[in-house]
Amino acid sequence: MRIGQGYDLHRLEAGYPLILGGITVPHDKGMVGHSDADVLSHAITDALLGAVALGNIGLLFPDTDPAYKGADSLVLLKEAWRRVQSTGYTIVNIDSTIVAQQPKLNPYIDTIRLRLAETLEIAVEQISVKAKTNEKVGPEGREEAISVQAVVLLQESLPG
Ligand code: MG
Repeated sequence: MRIGQGYDLHRLEAGYPLILGGITVPHDKGMVGHSDADVLSHAITDALLGAVALGNIGLLFPDTDPAYKGADSLVLLKEAWRRVQSTGYTIVNIDSTIVAQQPKLNPYIDTIRLRLAETLEIAVEQISVKAKTNEKVGPEGREEAISVQAVVLLQESLPG
Protein backbone atom coordinates (compact mmCIF):
# COMPACT_ATOMS: atom_id res chain seq x y z
CA MET A 1 0.00 0.00 0.00
CA ARG A 2 1.09 3.58 -0.63
CA ILE A 3 -0.55 6.78 0.61
CA GLY A 4 -0.37 10.17 -1.12
CA GLN A 5 -1.37 13.67 -0.11
CA GLY A 6 -2.05 16.70 -2.31
CA TYR A 7 -2.84 20.35 -1.72
CA ASP A 8 -3.59 23.24 -4.06
CA LEU A 9 -4.99 26.76 -3.93
CA HIS A 10 -5.99 29.15 -6.69
CA ARG A 11 -7.05 32.78 -6.53
CA LEU A 12 -10.67 33.69 -7.25
CA GLU A 13 -11.35 36.63 -9.57
CA ALA A 14 -14.23 37.93 -11.64
CA GLY A 15 -14.09 37.07 -15.33
CA TYR A 16 -12.73 33.52 -15.00
CA PRO A 17 -14.61 30.19 -15.10
CA LEU A 18 -14.86 28.13 -11.92
CA ILE A 19 -13.87 24.57 -12.86
CA LEU A 20 -13.79 21.85 -10.21
CA GLY A 21 -13.08 18.25 -11.19
CA GLY A 22 -13.74 19.14 -14.83
CA ILE A 23 -17.19 20.58 -14.07
CA THR A 24 -17.89 24.27 -14.67
CA VAL A 25 -19.74 25.58 -11.63
CA PRO A 26 -21.84 28.72 -12.23
CA HIS A 27 -20.44 31.59 -10.13
CA ASP A 28 -19.63 35.29 -10.48
CA LYS A 29 -15.92 34.55 -9.91
CA GLY A 30 -13.54 31.89 -11.16
CA MET A 31 -10.05 30.55 -10.67
CA VAL A 32 -6.91 32.25 -11.94
CA GLY A 33 -4.11 30.01 -13.24
CA HIS A 34 -1.88 29.04 -16.15
CA SER A 35 -4.01 25.98 -16.95
CA ASP A 36 -7.80 25.93 -16.47
CA ALA A 37 -6.97 26.32 -12.73
CA ASP A 38 -8.98 23.25 -11.73
CA VAL A 39 -7.79 23.25 -8.13
CA LEU A 40 -9.49 19.93 -7.27
CA SER A 41 -7.93 18.03 -10.17
CA HIS A 42 -4.54 19.55 -9.30
CA ALA A 43 -4.68 18.41 -5.66
CA ILE A 44 -5.73 14.88 -6.69
CA THR A 45 -2.96 14.78 -9.32
CA ASP A 46 -0.40 15.70 -6.65
CA ALA A 47 -1.78 13.09 -4.24
CA LEU A 48 -1.42 10.37 -6.91
CA LEU A 49 2.10 11.46 -7.83
CA GLY A 50 3.06 11.79 -4.18
CA ALA A 51 1.92 8.25 -3.38
CA VAL A 52 4.68 6.82 -5.60
CA ALA A 53 7.15 9.71 -5.09
CA LEU A 54 6.94 10.80 -8.73
CA GLY A 55 7.28 14.51 -7.97
CA ASN A 56 4.41 16.93 -8.49
CA ILE A 57 2.15 18.42 -11.15
CA GLY A 58 4.46 21.42 -11.68
CA LEU A 59 7.41 19.16 -12.49
CA LEU A 60 5.41 17.08 -14.97
CA PHE A 61 3.56 19.98 -16.60
CA PRO A 62 5.58 23.20 -16.00
CA ASP A 63 3.53 26.43 -15.95
CA THR A 64 6.35 28.06 -17.95
CA ASP A 65 5.48 25.73 -20.86
CA PRO A 66 3.03 27.41 -23.29
CA ALA A 67 1.70 23.93 -24.14
CA TYR A 68 -0.14 23.94 -20.80
CA LYS A 69 -1.67 27.42 -21.12
CA GLY A 70 -5.41 26.96 -20.57
CA ALA A 71 -4.84 23.18 -20.37
CA ASP A 72 -7.72 20.87 -19.47
CA SER A 73 -6.60 19.63 -16.04
CA LEU A 74 -8.48 16.35 -16.50
CA VAL A 75 -6.09 15.57 -19.37
CA LEU A 76 -3.16 16.30 -17.03
CA LEU A 77 -4.76 14.17 -14.29
CA LYS A 78 -5.24 11.28 -16.71
CA GLU A 79 -1.64 11.49 -17.91
CA ALA A 80 -0.29 11.65 -14.32
CA TRP A 81 -2.42 8.63 -13.37
CA ARG A 82 -1.14 6.73 -16.44
CA ARG A 83 2.42 7.30 -15.17
CA VAL A 84 1.56 6.30 -11.60
CA GLN A 85 -0.32 3.23 -12.82
CA SER A 86 2.68 2.15 -14.90
CA THR A 87 4.67 1.77 -11.66
CA GLY A 88 2.30 -1.08 -10.73
CA TYR A 89 -0.45 0.38 -8.57
CA THR A 90 -4.23 0.66 -8.58
CA ILE A 91 -6.40 3.13 -6.66
CA VAL A 92 -8.09 1.91 -3.47
CA ASN A 93 -9.80 5.24 -2.76
CA ILE A 94 -9.47 9.00 -2.95
CA ASP A 95 -10.83 11.50 -0.44
CA SER A 96 -10.80 15.27 -0.90
CA THR A 97 -12.00 18.47 0.73
CA ILE A 98 -12.76 21.68 -1.16
CA VAL A 99 -12.55 24.79 1.03
CA ALA A 100 -14.76 27.48 -0.54
CA GLN A 101 -16.92 30.09 1.18
CA GLN A 102 -19.00 30.49 -2.00
CA PRO A 103 -20.63 29.10 -4.10
CA LYS A 104 -22.51 26.28 -2.40
CA LEU A 105 -21.01 23.17 -4.00
CA ASN A 106 -23.21 20.36 -2.68
CA PRO A 107 -25.48 20.33 -5.78
CA TYR A 108 -22.41 19.61 -7.97
CA ILE A 109 -20.56 17.06 -5.85
CA ASP A 110 -21.98 13.89 -7.43
CA THR A 111 -21.42 15.17 -10.99
CA ILE A 112 -17.83 16.04 -10.06
CA ARG A 113 -17.26 12.58 -8.54
CA LEU A 114 -18.64 10.91 -11.67
CA ARG A 115 -16.40 12.98 -13.96
CA LEU A 116 -13.29 12.20 -11.90
CA ALA A 117 -14.20 8.50 -11.70
CA GLU A 118 -14.57 8.37 -15.50
CA THR A 119 -11.24 10.13 -15.96
CA LEU A 120 -9.39 7.73 -13.65
CA GLU A 121 -11.43 4.69 -14.78
CA ILE A 122 -12.49 3.83 -11.24
CA ALA A 123 -15.90 3.40 -9.60
CA VAL A 124 -17.61 6.50 -8.28
CA GLU A 125 -17.71 4.83 -4.83
CA GLN A 126 -13.90 5.03 -4.77
CA ILE A 127 -13.87 8.81 -4.85
CA SER A 128 -15.13 11.16 -2.17
CA VAL A 129 -15.42 14.91 -2.64
CA LYS A 130 -16.47 17.07 0.30
CA ALA A 131 -17.03 20.81 0.44
CA LYS A 132 -16.89 23.18 3.39
CA THR A 133 -16.67 26.90 4.06
CA ASN A 134 -13.84 28.53 5.99
CA GLU A 135 -16.10 30.31 8.49
CA LYS A 136 -15.53 33.59 6.61
CA VAL A 137 -11.89 33.85 7.74
CA GLY A 138 -8.67 33.42 5.80
CA PRO A 139 -8.33 33.73 2.00
CA GLU A 140 -10.97 31.06 1.35
CA GLY A 141 -13.36 32.59 3.87
CA ARG A 142 -12.96 36.04 2.31
CA GLU A 143 -13.67 34.51 -1.14
CA GLU A 144 -10.18 35.42 -2.37
CA ALA A 145 -9.26 31.80 -3.08
CA ILE A 146 -10.42 28.19 -3.11
CA SER A 147 -8.16 25.46 -1.75
CA VAL A 148 -8.32 21.68 -1.85
CA GLN A 149 -6.73 18.92 0.19
CA ALA A 150 -6.72 15.36 -1.15
CA VAL A 151 -5.45 11.97 -0.04
CA VAL A 152 -5.19 8.79 -2.05
CA LEU A 153 -4.53 5.18 -1.13
CA LEU A 154 -2.91 2.90 -3.72
CA GLN A 155 -2.31 -0.82 -3.64
CA GLU A 156 0.02 -2.93 -5.73
CA SER A 157 -1.67 -4.35 -8.81
CA LEU A 158 -2.20 -8.09 -8.75
CA PRO A 159 0.21 -9.87 -11.10
CA GLY A 160 -1.23 -10.97 -14.44
MG1 MG B 1 -2.90 24.40 -9.33
